[in-house]
Amino acid sequence: MRNVLMIVSGPSGVGKGTLVKRLIKEREDVTECVTCTTRAPRAGEVHGREYFFLSKEEFERRIQEDGFLEYDKHFDNYYGTPKAFVEETLKSKSVVLEIDVVGALNAKKVYPDSVLVMIAPPSKEVLAARLRGRGTETDEEIARRLSRLNYELSQQDKYDHVLINDDLETAYNNLCNLLDEEKNKQ
Ligand code: 5GP
Repeated sequence: MRNVLMIVSGPSGVGKGTLVKRLIKEREDVTECVTCTTRAPRAGEVHGREYFFLSKEEFERRIQEDGFLEYDKHFDNYYGTPKAFVEETLKSKSVVLEIDVVGALNAKKVYPDSVLVMIAPPSKEVLAARLRGRGTETDEEIARRLSRLNYELSQQDKYDHVLINDDLETAYNNLCNLLDEEKNKQ
């Protein structure tokens, strides 16, 4: 069995965070890669849990040191995947990484063996309702995030797997099965 770098993407509000958290909690053979960002923490977010919150200067210093497996800028903030963590952890466990489409496709270039999983909503309407229900973003931010939806979904065919999150339980079981399938590949 091999350890897999599984990269999970999907539109905001699609439930990928919930699925990934459950995977980490229930499976001892998988660890989450906490990524770095220069955006401000949202209420309840903790340094080292949701993200490593870095200053712009610190982030740029790490770029110079080749410390990121990939990095990107969204909404004027940097986001990046710490390279050393991924490489070290893969020696003993699979790693799940939750990043956007551009980052995922860049990471796949560096690690062609990584497995790209897109979590897609049953419909745009369902996604909009979930985002509003979450209550963590302003209306303007919600509109901005929804406007990225068509782009994200248009990249589906570049992914190894597309998983529709209609029913959470079903989506979770499918995600687990998919990970096992990939771990068993030679
Ligand atoms: P948010 O600000 O809502 O937490 O995240 C904004 C976007 O950044 C999401 O699409 C999230 O998946 C993405 N993101 C988080 N970490 C990384 C990373 O390390 N690299 C890249 N490219 N995107 C990331």
